[in-house]
Amino acid sequence: VHPLYAAMPPTIFDEMSGLARAHGALNLGQGFPDDPGPEALRRAAAEAVLDGYNQYPPSRGLPELRRAVAAHYAWTQGLSFDPDAQVTITSGATEALAAAILALVEPGDEVILFQPAYDAYAPLVRRAGGVPRFVTLSPPDWRWTAGQLEAAFTPRTRAVILNSPVNPTGVVVPRQDLELLAAACRARSVPVICDEVWEHLVFDGAVHAPLIALPGMADLAVKIGSAGKMFGLTGWKVGFLCAGPVLSPALARAHQFLTFTTPPNLQAAVAFGLETPGDWFTAMPARMQASRDRLAEALRREGFAVARSQGTYFLTVDLPDSGVAEADRAFALRAVTQAGVAAIPVSAFYETEAVTRVLRLCFAKADDVLDEAATRLARAR
Ligand code: PMP
Ligand code: GLN
Repeated sequence: VHPLYAAMPPTIFDEMSGLARAHGALNLGQGFPDDPGPEALRRAAAEAVLDGYNQYPPSRGLPELRRAVAAHYAWTQGLSFDPDAQVTITSGATEALAAAILALVEPGDEVILFQPAYDAYAPLVRRAGGVPRFVTLSPPDWRWTAGQLEAAFTPRTRAVILNSPVNPTGVVVPRQDLELLAAACRARSVPVICDEVWEHLVFDGAVHAPLIALPGMADLAVKIGSAGKMFGLTGWKVGFLCAGPVLSPALARAHQFLTFTTPPNLQAAVAFGLETPGDWFTAMPARMQASRDRLAEALRREGFAVARSQGTYFLTVDLPDSGVAEADRAFALRAVTQAGVAAIPVSAFYETEAVTRVLRLCFAKADDVLDEAATRLARAR
């Protein structure tokens, strides 16, 4: 491997999806739904292409989409963003993350990450010249303590990256833990990049609490959302970057030099989706919750120890408690090559002190696929 690439390992998602294709396996690895997504939105996108939404839109995004995003967060989370000054439309949450990191992090700055960490965070921080500092979380409850936070902050800490609901664990970070983090950041004026792409996929009546709504966080938090996740159209790559008036200009400027803008036809379709009253934000989580329960029950029948998933497309299985002696990666490789089921080993989201006992499975699939996957996984054991 050329040294330039050392900080940019191949992602586990490509690796596992590639193996799934090569072995004709059911893909419960990379997280995407196997249904085609809301027809009204797909039609809106097709019409936007035909109607001429095809030239460069403004760098910060179509004004109607920025207004729709601000109105949506006001309605669903009681947040108040000025659509002209505090909302930037990006090419997916992935670009929003890159823009936020490039805007905030200077060479030598430390950035606190919680492991398991979504796999894009550490490579982006390093390419910005930053130094990741990890707070390690463990099953079964994946919580942090005030002591862990105190130990992670130093005078060089420039930012924290927070993800909730959490990919890969399916945890909705408890209010108490958010408050501990907010207090630590407020005391030092450290910004928090909040990856909230799973905000609408929470189950059992759970409510997503945006960190930016906590006292004193309006000017410190950067809120990132994803239309791909909101509408179950993961390839659309339309993201939202929202923050207070102090941080927003820097975020918008970083975005200028990454992609400048995002396909206007998809932006128009997302604006239509956000503005059109529908049951997206109730029907989809309800469907996903039913799929979660279906997979969890099928796995439990086969003797797997399934953890509670409160959000995302994912649930996790504890391998030793399921009678699997292998570490997660070895088991995942065997499952995809021999049993025909792709899954994601959670150790891939750690850089140090890896937890190797947990496997992530995506339940955004048809019932028969979920049932068959559970049967096949039992065969791998
Ligand atoms: N952050 C997290 C935690 C995610 O799970 C994902 C995608 N699964 C992203 C960011 C990327 O979102 P997008 O597809 O909008 O770039
Ligand atoms: N976020 C998706 C997942 O966790 C994958 C996105 C990607 O392929 N980078 O499965």
